[in-house]
Amino acid sequence: MKVLVTAGPTHEPIDPVRFIGNRSSGKMGYALARSALRRGHEVVLVSGPVALARPENAVLVQVKTAEEMLEAVRQHIEWCDALIMAAAVADWRPRCIKAEKIKKRDASMLLRLEPAPDILRTIAPRKGGRIFVGFAAETRNLKEEAVKKMESKQLNLVVANDVGEPGSGFESDTNRVTLISSDGRTDELPLMTKDEVAERIVKWIEERRK
Ligand code: C5P
Repeated sequence: MKVLVTAGPTHEPIDPVRFIGNRSSGKMGYALARSALRRGHEVVLVSGPVALARPENAVLVQVKTAEEMLEAVRQHIEWCDALIMAAAVADWRPRCIKAEKIKKRDASMLLRLEPAPDILRTIAPRKGGRIFVGFAAETRNLKEEAVKKMESKQLNLVVANDVGEPGSGFESDTNRVTLISSDGRTDELPLMTKDEVAERIVKWIEERRK
């Protein structure tokens, strides 16, 4: 199987030295890439800025912004059988990027933001028979939000995690997730390492492809 994985945060520039980012470490996406490779699949890993070792045998495409990540996904979508969007893509980005470093003359500064492209929504018309897996990181109404996401982003599987819970979500080596599939099945997994969670997700995709 050909698996396209996105991982990590995106960095949306404000000026040449500053950006808006988020707490994603990329660990979940990299674990997914390693797991798919271990299980004999081909992997293209589109990664935002992270401090992680490149998984051996994966094709690594390094990007910074949501726009660049969208472009990389566009370029590989026809190639893949499954897309796993584990990246924490920015929801907003600065409306204009200053060419020069902004000087700190004032006590406060107004930063105008605009929505960043939603990669899954943009790519959905090219889904075809591919399997799309998305993540839902929420701090409340986890399952309701996850189901909404599944419908609006045409996902076959949503990996829902409560990022407010200790030992789960951003930066952690462990994760406690619920797998919600489009056929209505819900699988609440216990606290596991991200490698173990990744294995479960890749196996789920393999089962669906049979
Ligand atoms: O809407 P929300 O950001 O909560 O959805 C999360 C899912 O959508 C994740 O799989 C994430 O990778 C994807 N996403 C995206 N483009 C964005 C924001 C999120 O594809 N701009």
